[in-house]
Amino acid sequence: MTDAKKPTESSDESRLERPRYQAATFLTSASKLSQCPPDSGWEVAFAGRSNAGKSSAINCLTGNRKLARTSKTPGRTQLINFFQLSDTQRLVDLPGYGFAKVPLKVKLEWTKHLEAYLQERQSLRGLILMMDVRRPLQEFDHTMLEWAIAAEMPVHILLTKADKLKKGPAKSTLLQVRGQLAEHQSLVSVQLFSSLKRSGLDELHKVLNRWLTDSSVLEPETIESC
Ligand code: GDP
Repeated sequence: MTDAKKPTESSDESRLERPRYQAATFLTSASKLSQCPPDSGWEVAFAGRSNAGKSSAINCLTGNRKLARTSKTPGRTQLINFFQLSDTQRLVDLPGYGFAKVPLKVKLEWTKHLEAYLQERQSLRGLILMMDVRRPLQEFDHTMLEWAIAAEMPVHILLTKADKLKKGPAKSTLLQVRGQLAEHQSLVSVQLFSSLKRSGLDELHKVLNRWLTDSSVLEPETIESC
């Protein structure tokens, strides 16, 4: 028998661990950092104001309506929900912010946990921040960006519901938002996205694949504009 090359090839493949978004399953919920699953592997978190289209985007990405429903289950809406893609890769659904009805005390308490999660979680490789294309960069979006930038955490902004605008105005909003964040371009990228039309999904995949995979194994890919 000759020396087979197969083991080397297959171990290279398993090291890459390209994320399988459709394999996402609910792992656990946490209300504070100490309740999060062990801090190892790769994690990407999804955040945005309530109604920004976060659940729809997670559905679109994973092809699984149940996941987003899990995060909207009463009692879980103020929790950090963890979804597992593999032993080492997780998607994390952060609670939607901006709910006027939530009492101030609850808001402050939650804000504290969110900030701790963003700043201290070692396995967190990046933040997907969703904003309605018709109302980007609202007050708490800026707060999220400030926390992420302070923690040197990469942020990829999805300007959601892009189908609600014509192509020209959507593109000009994209350029405006990029312009406003130009000084942080090494950490912050922006794209248009529509769950309804499934547009922008390839670009989102590229960013997530890069973040959820060891960057020393995969060459970083260029992020194209939408
Ligand atoms: P979440 O609160 O951020 O999870 O937002 P949802 O995903 O529940 O979406 C809020 C509303 O926006 C729902 O009525 C969705 O049907 C709608 N929506 C979400 N994504 C899109 C989109 O890409 N296009 C359009 N036209 N509507 C969307």
